[in-house]
Amino acid sequence: MPAFSLDPAQTTWCAELSALAAERLKPLADQGEPGRVNRPLVAALGELGLLSRLFEAGALDLCLLRESLARTCTEAETALALQGLGTHPVAAFGTPVQRARWLPEAAAGRAVAAFALSEPDAGSDAAALALDAVPDGRGGWRLHGEKRWISNAPEADFATVFARTTRGAGARGVTAFLVPADRPGLGGEPLDMLAPHALGTLTFDGVPVGPEDLLGEPDKGFRVAMNTLNLFRPSVGAFAVGMAQAALDAALAHTAARPAFGGVLADLQAVSHRVAEMATRTEAARLLVYAAAVAYDEGDPDVPRRSAMAKLLATETAQYVVDAAVQLHGALALQRGHLLEHLYREVRAPRIYEGATEVQRTIIAKELYAKVPPTEVVPTEVPPGERRPLGAPYAPKEPKETTA
Ligand SMILES: Cc1cc2nc3c(=O)[nH]c(=O)nc-3n(C[C@H](O)[C@H](O)[C@H](O)COP(=O)(O)OP(=O)(O)OC[C@H]3O[C@@H](n4cnc5c(N)ncnc54)[C@H](O)[C@@H]3O)c2cc1C
Repeated sequence: MPAFSLDPAQTTWCAELSALAAERLKPLADQGEPGRVNRPLVAALGELGLLSRLFEAGALDLCLLRESLARTCTEAETALALQGLGTHPVAAFGTPVQRARWLPEAAAGRAVAAFALSEPDAGSDAAALALDAVPDGRGGWRLHGEKRWISNAPEADFATVFARTTRGAGARGVTAFLVPADRPGLGGEPLDMLAPHALGTLTFDGVPVGPEDLLGEPDKGFRVAMNTLNLFRPSVGAFAVGMAQAALDAALAHTAARPAFGGVLADLQAVSHRVAEMATRTEAARLLVYAAAVAYDEGDPDVPRRSAMAKLLATETAQYVVDAAVQLHGALALQRGHLLEHLYREVRAPRIYEGATEVQRTIIAKELYAKVPPTEVVPTEVPPGERRPLGAPYAPKEPKETTA
């Protein structure tokens, strides 16, 4: 499939998903408690077959699902995505026993999942994580420490937890465990966030885990995390595109109808040009997201660069488009309960999670410079206060490993 257009079946599916989200999921979302897991909403996603589709989906299907749901119900989109983020490591790296225990429950929306990587002192620099896995002398470990900013925590029924099994080894000393919520010593509390996102801490006070809880091999957990984030990164962009499209739809409808200066707002060229800019940027972001997703599905070696570009452009674009839509609505958009007031709060976090905008730029630069052929002449140190002479070969510093 060419990356620049969807086929008619995909377009129809997207329209059906948006309609389904508006009719069936939005009413459930509206009844939920902000910042808490909405179990009826997760169960409905399961009953509608969207969660099982999520686990079978490639990257493009995942993007279409997220974009279409986000256009009419961001809470449903987020509940679906979080279920995918927490469960993907089990689907991709779990043992047959782990898969049989958790995948059917997660797909039905009866078990809620979490992906626990970030810590108070390890966010963008995820390889610095310190949750301590202390050997128990019987082939297992005891987990000590805290995870923070974890979606669906502390209510999730199981979590993929990344812990340090080898100290001082950076990314190479991290192990992934599947930790069910009923393990002794596991606690946590919800955090009150700007957007109505279920998020909290997980605390570990000697939580026992054994070899049967491993996801992948000991000390190879960072691979589990990166494999999951590589799949989900373009789809964060799709979530952003869905929000941008919702804001654009609202701005078009509003400016076409709002009386002003003897006509409507859209008659003012400054207004209509702004809407044209919003539409153009949204379309550009959408195409970059689809291209990254197709590259992932086709096993393209350029996935890290493409995914980072897609996430970066789409989340920054959505912020611009939502802000512009607020401006075009005036005071109306700032009233509690207005769609744009909701989107204005929702649109901020994706520029930070799953790799902040700056981290995406670091990934893109690292990928670009990796392709620059090595030069024969390595420049000598430039004395302080002097510039590198124009045309002198560039000797990039080894970039630090950054993630999350
Ligand atoms: C709504 C929400 C949901 C989340 N869900 C989860 C989840 O389910 N699981 C999970 O594990 N985590 C989750 N997180 C945490 C998220 O992954 C982290 O917030 C993110 O990795 C950034 O880490 P930090 O907040 O500690 O910011 P820091 O790492 O302290 O970074 C702060 C800022 O410093 C700058 N910065 C950082 N690194 C660089 C760099 N290399 N170059 C240039 N500038 C840089 C950026 O501006 C960045 O925003 C969630 C966060 C939010 C807001």
